[in-house]
Amino acid sequence: MDKITIIVPCYNEQEVIDLFYPAVQKHVSKIPNCAFNYIFVNDGSRDATLEKLRALAAAHDDITYLSLSRNFGKESAMMAGIDYADGDAVIIMDADLQHPPEAVAEMVKWWREGYDDVCGKRVDRAGETWLKRTCANIFYAVMKKFSTSYEMQRDVGDFRLLDRRCIEALRLMRENQRFTKGLFTWVGYRKKEIPFEVQPRAAGTTTWNFLSLFNLAMKGMTSFTTAPLRLMTFLGVTVSCGAMIYMLFTLIMALLYGDPVAGYPTLITVMLFLGGTQLLALGIIGEYLGQIFHESKQRPIYLIDEINGERMIYKPHRVPNERGFTPRD
Ligand code: UDP
Ligand code: MG
Repeated sequence: MDKITIIVPCYNEQEVIDLFYPAVQKHVSKIPNCAFNYIFVNDGSRDATLEKLRALAAAHDDITYLSLSRNFGKESAMMAGIDYADGDAVIIMDADLQHPPEAVAEMVKWWREGYDDVCGKRVDRAGETWLKRTCANIFYAVMKKFSTSYEMQRDVGDFRLLDRRCIEALRLMRENQRFTKGLFTWVGYRKKEIPFEVQPRAAGTTTWNFLSLFNLAMKGMTSFTTAPLRLMTFLGVTVSCGAMIYMLFTLIMALLYGDPVAGYPTLITVMLFLGGTQLLALGIIGEYLGQIFHESKQRPIYLIDEINGERMIYKPHRVPNERGFTPRD
C-alpha cells in the first residue's frame, strides 16, 4: 500500500476549503492500492480559513492542518507542508481547485513507473492577458540564457508529485528567499511532465498581482544565477572602451582640425549615460546584497502556531513531538 501526502497551502480560502476535500477525495479514492492523507497549511489567513480547517480535521482522520504564525507566502507554506509530510510521495495542490484532481491518477501512474517528480505542465496560457504571457516569455528566455547548469522547466508550476527522495533533498535546502520552482528543477531526479489545463478558481480571488509576480521573478533570477553581475562587467568594459575611443576622437578633432567641439550637449549626454549605467550596476549588485542580507540571518523559513489544535512552542533544540513529527525548524 502506497502512502501519499497531499499538501495544500491556503491563504484566505474560506470559500473553497469545504469544496476541496470532497472534490479531491472523489478522484483519489478510486486509485487502487494507495492511501492518501492531507496536510493543509494555513498561511496566516485573515478570514475563517483556520476555523474551516479545524472543523475539517476534526471530521476526518486523514487530515492534518498546520497553521503558521503569520502570512509567510506560498513558498514558505509549501515548505512547511513538505517538512511535515510523511508519505512515500507528496502531491502539492492549490486549495482553489485550479489544479484538476483527476490528474492525480496519472501522476501516481508515472510515479509507479519510476519517475521521482511528475509535474503538471499547463497547456492553456492562452487564457491569460497579453502582458502576463509576454512577461512569462521574457522571464523564461532570460533564465534559459543565463542558467547554464540546468534548465528551468517551462509552464511548470507547483502542481506536482514528488517522491520521498525529492522531499528529503528539498528539506536540505533551508534558504529563506525561496524560489521553489527553481529548487524543484535544481534537485534533479527523474522528471516527467504531464499536460493539464488550469481550471478557473472554484471561489475566492487570486492573491497574486503584477508586483508580486515581478518580485518572484527577481527572486528566481537572483537566487539561481549570477549572470546579471557578469553582464554588468561586460557592460562596464564596453562602455569604457567606447569612452576611450570617443575621447581619442574628440582630442584628434580638437588638436588637428581645431574643431570647437560642442561642449554642453556632449557632456550632458555622456554624464547621463554613465550615471544611468552606474545606477543600473549598483541596483543589480544591491539585489544580490539583499539576498545575502536575508540569507545570512538564517531565520527559520516559517513558524508554526498550531498543529491540529496543539500550540507549538519553539525550543532552542529540535525535538520530535509526540505525534512523531520531526519539525525541521
Ligand atoms: N497561497 C498561500 N500563501 C500566500 C498566497 C497564496 O498559501 O501568501 C496559496 C493560495 O491559498 C492557493 C495557492 O497558494 O492555494 C495559489 O494562490 P492563488 O490561487 O492566489 O494564485 P494563482 O492560482 O492565481 O496563481
Ligand atoms: Mg489559484
